[in-house]
Amino acid sequence: MSMKWRHRRTSYGCSAEGELSAREGRGRMKTILCVEDELKILNNNRAALTRAGYTVLTASSLAQAREHLAHRSPEAIVLDIMLPDGNGLDFLRELRAADSKIPVMLLTAWSESSDVARGLRAGANDYLSKPFDYEVLLARLEALFRNVEQVPESVEKGPLKLDISAGRVFMNDVDMMLTRREFSLLLLFVQNEDRFMSAEYLYEKSWGQPIGSDYRTLKKHISNLRRKLEEGNCCYKITAARGEGYCFEKKSTF
Ligand code: CA
Repeated sequence: MSMKWRHRRTSYGCSAEGELSAREGRGRMKTILCVEDELKILNNNRAALTRAGYTVLTASSLAQAREHLAHRSPEAIVLDIMLPDGNGLDFLRELRAADSKIPVMLLTAWSESSDVARGLRAGANDYLSKPFDYEVLLARLEALFRNVEQVPESVEKGPLKLDISAGRVFMNDVDMMLTRREFSLLLLFVQNEDRFMSAEYLYEKSWGQPIGSDYRTLKKHISNLRRKLEEGNCCYKITAARGEGYCFEKKSTF
């Protein structure tokens, strides 16, 4: 099944509840999709979230949730696990497989505690066990948004534009065709211009593990990155200094 998660904002299909809710004190109104088949919980979720200023979309089945996502782009999903037409965790995996970064809060019954670990591994950002306090739900959602909002979507440096969610870099609008490691190295460099970073630090940040004796791998990736920057005639370069590491800096114009 092909799924389209990022779509135009039209509102035909399922009903959008709470459209008239108040604006959040700061910033624009966020939309939350609640997927829950227990009507009482769904209504209470909707009431609490609407009162807090969110726009709420409701779905009592996965089919309805998919229908919403085909037309709307909510900022978060509050997701039940046991649903009449399937398992919320499978739905979550579908989302992540389709590269959706939408924050997901799982709602789990006490008997589903083993699902919490599976849910977090499947890409859930947080979970709440039922029954829960609505103040806690609101606070957890706020925390979830704070975490998500800390990650910028893109970073620009001179002719370079790094699209963080897609993991691609454009130099003067041309795709540099970087590998995943080259991308994460370049992101580190761009975020730390004019600062020397050790091989150990770069490796651990990009590979997620200590360098051990793998200095050659790092060297090879940095040399590829240098070549690609050079091929595009970039005004930035990566320099190396013994004992200090590597530094991303503007080429001298003299
Ligand atoms: Ca349920």
